[in-house]
Amino acid sequence: MATIAVLDQNTIDKIAAGEVVERPASVVKELVENAMDAGATAITVEIRDGGISLVRITDNGSGIPAEQVPLAFLRHATSKIRSVEELVQIASLGFRGEALSSISAVAQIEMITKTPDALTGTRYVIEGGAEKANEEVGAPTGTTFLVRNLFYNTPARQKFLKTPVTEANAVTSVVEQLALSHPGISFKYMVNSQVKLHTSGNRNLKELVYNIYGRDIARELIEIHSESPLMTIDGFIGKPVISRGNRNFENYYVNGRYVRSKLLARAIEDGYQTSMMQHKYPFTLFYVQMDGEAVDVNVHPTKMELRFSHQEEIYRQMRDMISGALNHREQIVKVSLSS
Ligand code: ADP
Ligand code: MG
Repeated sequence: MATIAVLDQNTIDKIAAGEVVERPASVVKELVENAMDAGATAITVEIRDGGISLVRITDNGSGIPAEQVPLAFLRHATSKIRSVEELVQIASLGFRGEALSSISAVAQIEMITKTPDALTGTRYVIEGGAEKANEEVGAPTGTTFLVRNLFYNTPARQKFLKTPVTEANAVTSVVEQLALSHPGISFKYMVNSQVKLHTSGNRNLKELVYNIYGRDIARELIEIHSESPLMTIDGFIGKPVISRGNRNFENYYVNGRYVRSKLLARAIEDGYQTSMMQHKYPFTLFYVQMDGEAVDVNVHPTKMELRFSHQEEIYRQMRDMISGALNHREQIVKVSLSS
């Protein structure tokens, strides 16, 4: 009979990495969210071969102090929370301290980072969980991550990667969602050295939609605003003419987080109800702000699925806001695109 033994740390990390890192798009999401949490106002994302051979993310955020760099790559090491109580009012996107340890377990990472008050920066290399270099270098303030050869040491996972084109498409939609979720951050996105997206970070939502979805979408939007003691919603809904055959156009961000919610999706679709043909889904872009007490983000490691208290009220406010805006379209249309 086989004997029972506790797995070694490297094996534990590789297994756990599967929870967080599924494909290049998940690497991009985690690293960009870290850059956002670091207060970056400009973020560059670059991929090669769909992000399989290279993901490079550069930010102008706070950087990591030299003595803390190795800590950042330890599992459950985070600067963002100290206790579970703080999760209730969490303002950062990350909090589990799992991304860097997970990515470094299954790829080759080179990181260069500098804080504003340090004279020099740090270059740190870690491959398959093993530290390869930790040295002083000249660097601008902020952080650059190079993630090479995802799953190079886990063939079983590598096998599940799709073609570079398919992986690049997944990265593109993640980058678009992240850019939409933070209109105050300038994004530059490059695929195989070609610039695919460049947003200004000037918070102009119409310009952002134009940039990402193009003119035909941007000219068919209705501006919305709704406030209750529970939540504030701002953004746009698309007129029914720009509906689609899938839900990919239903964008909503809760407290700056790119999320999925069955409750919100149902409220959106019920709000459109009579205005929409069957099997058609609307374009929406909502920024929802609500008290941390009313929403639980601690449901899944990828933090996509949300849990709400006051489900019924949230559902009704969202649905009624939409049906109201659609029914009084004449008064609410303020959006016209100049170009
Ligand atoms: P989490 O985001 O949940 O804290 P991560 O593993 O993603 O965990 O990151 C670990 C820590 O490394 C963060 O808490 C943060 O202190 C630091 N860090 C990671 N990326 C950056 C970055 N781009 N700029 C500044 N600090 C960073
Ligand atoms: Mg993180």
